[in-house]
Amino acid sequence: MKKILVTGALGQIGSELVAKLRETYGTANVIGTDIKEMAGNTGPFEIVDVTDADRLFSVAKEHNVDTIMHLAALLSAKAEEIPKKAWDLNMGGLVNALEVARELDLKFFTPSSIGAFGPTTPKDNTPQETIQRPTTMYGVNKVAGELLCDYYYYRYGVDTRGVRYPGLISHVTPPGGGTTDYAVEIYYEAIKHKTYTSYIAENTYMDMMYMPDALNAIIQLMEADPSKLKHRNAFNISAISAAPEDFAKAIKKHIPEFSLQYDVDPGRQKIAESWPNSIDSSAATEEWGFKAAYDIDTMTKDMLEKLSVAK
Ligand code: NAD
Repeated sequence: MKKILVTGALGQIGSELVAKLRETYGTANVIGTDIKEMAGNTGPFEIVDVTDADRLFSVAKEHNVDTIMHLAALLSAKAEEIPKKAWDLNMGGLVNALEVARELDLKFFTPSSIGAFGPTTPKDNTPQETIQRPTTMYGVNKVAGELLCDYYYYRYGVDTRGVRYPGLISHVTPPGGGTTDYAVEIYYEAIKHKTYTSYIAENTYMDMMYMPDALNAIIQLMEADPSKLKHRNAFNISAISAAPEDFAKAIKKHIPEFSLQYDVDPGRQKIAESWPNSIDSSAATEEWGFKAAYDIDTMTKDMLEKLSVAK
């Protein structure tokens, strides 16, 4: 990877990924793009709506990139509110980005999600290859997207790679409307009010990961020796399997008076219950050395420190 274009660059992942890529590959070699304007320009940036195939193609060509990292999407909870729009953006944007990669011979990365699993998927230690019958529009998009990325590799030889992310926890850009957003909000509320009301019920386990591990995983996978990759797309990766009370327990080690209440949102709870409790990341570990550095306690310490400084 020498010159990289990132779509959806102002989102929860993109905002930190662009900064990390610029540190690693040089500011001029990372082109941020999004549908909205970037505040405080710190490097090359272009307005690109990924549903506009011609615009995406011309920006990629003009900047002479060799890699596209496609992040623009509508996340699980938001997608359930406007399913047709989610289809248009999640599938339309993806196929446009894949076409640009095919036409310009680019390396390609896009994330799938634990949302690609469904209620009939084995819930514990969910295998890399398993039943995928999701019941959300987001999940339908993610499964179709995983298959489409494989298709572009087998049919056209496009170097597509990807992971299935769990819920990502970060302190720079707020999450964009996913089911695991509570696991970010809980830290902001712990600092501000020492209390949090969770929309996800007690004892609901989902996979999670701290953003630094999520960003390292992208670079590690994209730099991996292709001859070692038996899979290409949709590698299961996870760091933490946790329920709301596990976050509360970790936070209480630093803020003993912290309290957790529940006011369950039936919509998001239903999505959460359709997802695994914990997924098996062993294929990613074997094929490209994935290993998360943060567990719930080390992540909690760092989140609280970073948010206290930013207050
Ligand atoms: P986000 O919602 O925070 O950001 C998405 C970005 O896309 C936003 O900046 C938005 O302005 C931009 N966007 C929206 N419509 C666009 C369009 N038509 N053209 C161009 N840009 C557009 O999302 P994120 O959390 O950064 O997620 C990025 C990717 O990672 C998505 O594919 C998502 O499904 C996946 N993922 C995220 C998580 C997570 O916890 N954040 C977990 C699993 C998978």
